[in-house]
Order: sequence, then C-alpha cells, then structure tokens
Amino acid sequence: MSLKDAGANPTSEQKPALPLPWQADIWHQWLQQLSQDRLPHAILLTGLPGLGKRTLARALAHYLLCENPEPREPCWRCPSCQLLDSGFHPDWHPLEPEAPGKAIRVDAIREMNAQVQQSAQRGGYKLVLIWPAEAMNINAANALLKTLEEPEPRTQFILVSDQPSALPATIRSRCQQWPVKAPDLASGQAWLGCQLSPEQDPEILLKAAGGRPLQAVKMATPEWEEPRQLLLQVMEALNRGADPSEQAQRLKKFDLPQLLDYLQSWLADTLRLKLMGETQVMDSRQLPLYHQWQQLLSSQQLLALDSEFKQAHLALASNPNHELFIERLLIRLTQELGHE
Ligand SMILES: [Zn+2]
Repeated sequence: MSLKDAGANPTSEQKPALPLPWQADIWHQWLQQLSQDRLPHAILLTGLPGLGKRTLARALAHYLLCENPEPREPCWRCPSCQLLDSGFHPDWHPLEPEAPGKAIRVDAIREMNAQVQQSAQRGGYKLVLIWPAEAMNINAANALLKTLEEPEPRTQFILVSDQPSALPATIRSRCQQWPVKAPDLASGQAWLGCQLSPEQDPEILLKAAGGRPLQAVKMATPEWEEPRQLLLQVMEALNRGADPSEQAQRLKKFDLPQLLDYLQSWLADTLRLKLMGETQVMDSRQLPLYHQWQQLLSSQQLLALDSEFKQAHLALASNPNHELFIERLLIRLTQELGHE
C-alpha cells in the first residue's frame, strides 16, 4: 500500500492520512488558520461514528509534524513523514484506552503531560490525539485540563469524540469544537463505491449506515455481515415461535453492543416502515423481517422494546453475564411477539 492510500484504510489507525473528501471544508479552514497563526491549540472533533473523525485528526497531525509540507498536504518524504509511516514519531502522542470500552487512565495523561512539557524532539510541533475523549475518567480529564489551560508553545491537542456531551464542560470550553458532518448522498456513494467490491451495493450500504461512509465500509466486512445474517435467522425463528433459550445459544459469540445496535436499528426501521412506508426504511436488506415484525408488533410495543434495549445498553457497563443477557433479551422479545 502506498503512503497516499493510507487515509482510506480504517485498519491503519496510526498511519499518516489525508482528509476524506467530505472534510475538505474543515481542512481548508484549518490551513487558512494555520497560515495566519490562528489555529486553536486544542481542537475537539465531534460527530457520529463512521464519519472519519480520526482520519481527519491524523491528517492534521501528519501535516503539522511534516518538516517540509506542501501547500495542502504533507511532503510524504521528510524524516518526520517517514517516522510517522513507520508508526513511531517521538513528538506524536496518540492516547486511547488499552482495550475498547476501557477508560483512558490518569497515568497515561500524566505521562503525556510530562512529555509535552519538554521541547519537541524533532524541533517542530508536539501532537496529542485523544480518542475517544469521553473515555477519560474524571482524574484523567482533570490532569489534562491543567495542560490545556497553560499550553506549551507548538503543542497541538486534538480530541475526538462521538459523545461530546459526556465530556466535562471544563474540557469542552477549552477546545474549539469542529463538528464533522456526513457527505451528501451522491458524493458519499461515489467514495464508497471505490472502497467496496463490485458485488456490494454502495447505495444500499450507505443508506443502511445512516449516510456514514466509514460505517458502511465496516458493515460490508465479513465481521459485520456474518453476525447480521445469524441474528436475522434467529429473529425469523423467534417470529415463528422458536424457543428463545435455544436461540440464545446460537448468539453466544455475538458482541453485546453490536447485538443491541442491530436490534435497536431494526426496531427503529420497522417503525419507519409502519409509519412512513418502505421508502423511509434505512436498511432495505432487512425488509422481510420488518414486514413480519410490523404484523406482530404494535408501534407501542416497538417503542417499549426500543427503550428497554437502550436501558440494556447502559447495563453493559456493569459487565453482565453474556449468555444470560442475550437470553433475557430474546425472552422479552418473544413475550412481545405473543408467543408466551
Ligand atoms: Zn514531510
């Protein structure tokens, strides 16, 4: 893979990147601010998951660390660019949880604070990327606050968050907030078409992903597609009156947040079908299931299940027993379907 391809590849999280096409406006404004020495020292990138916020953050980091940047992009050749491509640059400090769902701990922030108080090892910018920023626990956020309040020169902070409201107000108020929006449908589809294999349909996938192109790329992978097929089979079996405990066994390996995401988006889509018709449905691949649910469940039942599944999402934080959790969800669904 060439350096320039790196931006579109969601697996190369640490690699250099270019902004995605729908981020051109923000990019242009940043370059302008930079040329006038007005780039805010702390940027908070917000927006739904799957819009490429981290790609944009890495693009800015790379541009600032490049020792010989072109007018609109890094040079890709200087020692800094090469260090970034190798995944290691002494002035690049990406901070993220050790595992998904875990907190960013105060020790990690303190270590970063100590590093950015020293001068840059390569003489240029020092870059801190915090993702997801809302994963900082309260001590970590407080430790960061001090550094944000008294920034060292040429130290750039980029915080990335899907849920900025979960950040302490004190952190938010010290950052300039930049919302990343979804592309319009036509340009989103054009970009997506280049990422998918020919048998995959960018129009259907982009709509199913709520217009979020990187989410659509994710949804096209076998890791997403196989569980979706399995869950669909389980739901259709439940509609026919299958035993929920037996069906729960089939979902043993399912990732719980992903399971709830699917169920909630399918319930919401069934409501759209019920209230507004087929054209408003986001994931048209699921229409046969939606039609079954539409007949079996009232709008009130769909709404009640949706709010229960939202509660279930919150309960995940307490690390519930995986199999019991799935079994309970399926039993609740079966009760509403009127099979019990
Ligand atoms: Zn360079």
